[in-house]
Amino acid sequence: MYIKQVGLMNQAPTLKVKSRLSSFNQLSRIHPFMILFAEQKNMKESVIEIDGGTSLPLFSLNTLIIGSGAAALNAASNLHKMGKEDIAVVTDEWGGGTSNNAGSDKQTYYKLSLSGDLPDSSLEMAKDLFKGGSMHGDIALCEAQNSAQAFFHLVSLGVPFPHDRYGKYAGYKTDHDPRGRATSAGPLTSHLMFECLAKDIKSRGIKVFDMHEVIGLLTEAKDNEKHVIGAIALDKNNLDSSNYGFVVFNAVNVILATGGPGGIYKASVYPESQLGSSGLAFEIGAIANNLTESQYGLASVKFRWNLSGTYQQVIPRYVSADREGRGEREFLNDYFPDMGKLATAIFLKGYQWPFDPRKVANYGSSLIDILVYQETVKKERRVFLDFTRNPSGGGVLEDFTFDQLNEEAHTYLEKSGALLSTPIDRLRKMNEPAIDLYKRHGIDISKDYLEIAVCAQHNNGGLKGDIWWESNIKHLFPVGEVNGTHGVYRQGGAALNSGQVGSMRAALYISERYNDDPRDGKSFMNSANAQIKKKFEFVQRIIDPRIEEDSFIRSTRSEIQERMSACCAHIRELERVRKAITEAWRLYSRLKKEMKVTSPQALPAAFKNLDLCLTHALYLEASREYLEKGGKSRGSYLVLDSEGEKPCKELGEEWKFCLNERDAFVDKKILEVYLNEKLEVEKQWVDIRPIPQEETWFENVWSEYRKGNIIK
Ligand SMILES: Cc1cc2nc3c(=O)[nH]c(=O)nc-3n(C[C@H](O)[C@H](O)[C@H](O)COP(=O)(O)OP(=O)(O)OC[C@H]3O[C@@H](n4cnc5c(N)ncnc54)[C@H](O)[C@@H]3O)c2cc1C
Repeated sequence: MYIKQVGLMNQAPTLKVKSRLSSFNQLSRIHPFMILFAEQKNMKESVIEIDGGTSLPLFSLNTLIIGSGAAALNAASNLHKMGKEDIAVVTDEWGGGTSNNAGSDKQTYYKLSLSGDLPDSSLEMAKDLFKGGSMHGDIALCEAQNSAQAFFHLVSLGVPFPHDRYGKYAGYKTDHDPRGRATSAGPLTSHLMFECLAKDIKSRGIKVFDMHEVIGLLTEAKDNEKHVIGAIALDKNNLDSSNYGFVVFNAVNVILATGGPGGIYKASVYPESQLGSSGLAFEIGAIANNLTESQYGLASVKFRWNLSGTYQQVIPRYVSADREGRGEREFLNDYFPDMGKLATAIFLKGYQWPFDPRKVANYGSSLIDILVYQETVKKERRVFLDFTRNPSGGGVLEDFTFDQLNEEAHTYLEKSGALLSTPIDRLRKMNEPAIDLYKRHGIDISKDYLEIAVCAQHNNGGLKGDIWWESNIKHLFPVGEVNGTHGVYRQGGAALNSGQVGSMRAALYISERYNDDPRDGKSFMNSANAQIKKKFEFVQRIIDPRIEEDSFIRSTRSEIQERMSACCAHIRELERVRKAITEAWRLYSRLKKEMKVTSPQALPAAFKNLDLCLTHALYLEASREYLEKGGKSRGSYLVLDSEGEKPCKELGEEWKFCLNERDAFVDKKILEVYLNEKLEVEKQWVDIRPIPQEETWFENVWSEYRKGNIIK
């Protein structure tokens, strides 16, 4: 044990560090789950005292992994496999997040083709990833090259990806995929990945800090660079204690696997438990790229689920009603010239799920997303899918019959034996589990309407990383969806692949290059103390028992989400984004200065609001920069433009837009956004790195490998 006095009054505050080995009996009280992970080796627990004698637990370890989704758990699994035992996972909710809770009709995993007679190679796959636009070529190559290894890691852990009796992992074509590289373990692929990875983590005895909300990353400056050195979390089971549940981590490396920013949107198909924590990294100056690029599409809102695949291929009826459910009408009828085009557009939505401005014209499938948005956001009505009846023309169009469908749709239904009388009969025939899924969540779509909206689903952009997924903040590795490796378009399933490849490569780099022991508590606290103290004082300041309820938290959360869904989701317009930015920064400064909560129980929500507020401000900033540089509609959003064209004559004048011209500036560069030391927003357009064409002559690679020159 040692005690050190530092500084004088008004300089660095008093600091005490008492060392002792971790007491896991104490930890097992926190959550039953902890008992399972009590075997941890190496990690040290100490107690630090900040000003005024408040004690906080300090855990010192090599690598802290934040999050418990598929990317986080894969990082932990790989690190352990590579011999790094001095690691821990910290998560706000074990079992929360997208991986464990989201899925779709057939949730897709993208990897090198491993079957069939279409030849494939990592270079070909990299080229296809790269073609999505605004994606760096070296990252595309890494994701392609390592996809098979990451995939077989999951297979070895028991994820039931289907194969035939020769061991051939059959593939199918997903969007933007010419070679049938996609596979799926069913509607719950990412959940199965979570389950198998979690089992592996458990069997390896890796420590998990459950119910710990990370509220800040700790940094220090070294050689003109910023390094992450740890994190602060709130133990949600200990908020009412005198230290408000503060837990401090002293880590050589931090793997940030906090997922996508689901919490910034009102209309969202991210699971409710997935709010995101990108603000943690923005706050310390981590650079983000491609923040403008997300995917939006139709989803149910009561129980959040993607309405892709068979849900659309069975051609349900789309109806809207007022807030009270009155005045029901089949609103799509007013915008399509005949039932054949309308029913075919609904059918195609099945595999053209994300909204895509290129698929609006000629009564394309994405016209439906626009019409649903118009109904729900502009007219403030509610929209539902009705599986019990076929679309009817309502006197405007003819009623639905199969012979009106285009050949592709008709053949598909015919081959599936699904030329049956109602959408629910067709769904029962083609995909009965799709009906059961809703039943399990209290919605019987064989009788009831299903409420829908155009929802945010995935962020292609996010934090920037290098080919080892290390960010510009040294020793900070954003992996999974929080890391924005993709550009404008991505193949279905590429998100899950990216999360597995990135977390595996981060683990490899750490185990080879950053595998030092954590530094001693005293030296750590010299750098971290002021940062911890600042957060602690903020907490002391915002708790005010005189406040009657936490309505401020609820109203500010809604304000953020409504602003993003209205101005910066799949429909965007420069003037509205500009206005939204002013409002966003105003709210952020109010939160920092005026936010109050009734009790420590509300602290995690308060910090989450700060995080989401900063996050949405930066997303809006990126959008403004893109629009001011002349960016038009692309990816999964439409930019309203009075000088553009109406995609169909039935839509109002306000729906004019155009796509980016060939060789548009915004398509030739990648937009990076970050906060500088003065917390001002910096934006830079960087060149897109091409796919590396390095020589792979075996003898030379072997020689470099033996010299240890590869991982650096
Ligand atoms: C409906 C839907 C369908 C999808 N379908 C596909 C598909 O078919 N193919 C595909 O490739 N991708 C798909 N995706 C995307 C893919 O599922 C996600 O990108 C992926 O699961 C994200 O994994 P992750 O590990 O990065 O994050 P997540 O699984 O979201 O995990 C994030 C973790 O971080 C934790 N966390 C967050 N903040 C904190 C904090 N401050 N402190 C502590 N812990 C924190 C959360 O609790 C959670 O455990 C889909 C997404 C959705 C929503």
